[in-house]
Amino acid sequence: MGISKIVMGLDDKPMWASIERGAMELQKCGECGEFRYPPAPVCPHDLSADATWTPVSDKGTILSWVIFHKQYFEDHVPPYNSVAIQLEEGPIVVSQLQGDEPEGSWIGQRVELIYAEHAGRTQHFARWLKPQAA
Ligand SMILES: [Zn+2]
Repeated sequence: MGISKIVMGLDDKPMWASIERGAMELQKCGECGEFRYPPAPVCPHDLSADATWTPVSDKGTILSWVIFHKQYFEDHVPPYNSVAIQLEEGPIVVSQLQGDEPEGSWIGQRVELIYAEHAGRTQHFARWLKPQAA
């Protein structure tokens, strides 16, 4: 069993570097303005190669979540969670909720990405944005 590692695709380096700086950037298409993830050489909507690495808001909504009770990596000791987050910009990223957890289903809960050291590198995690009391 090893630690979880970065899987570096051909177009991924600027994204991982921005995560290391604590402010994730994704490619924003110069033609249609859509953000794309995972990084790719062309836009999946219009095949434009024109894109600018642009910071995301770090805000999003949980689309799905799971609690793992089996250990797959040395640096993720069960039980631990994994959440699929749709960023305000559109892309869906997978992260891990830290800190307070919502009661019941996590689906639809608002979160923000935070950045922290894990297994020798900076990674993003999610923090629950608790609904404000009325
Ligand atoms: Zn496009």
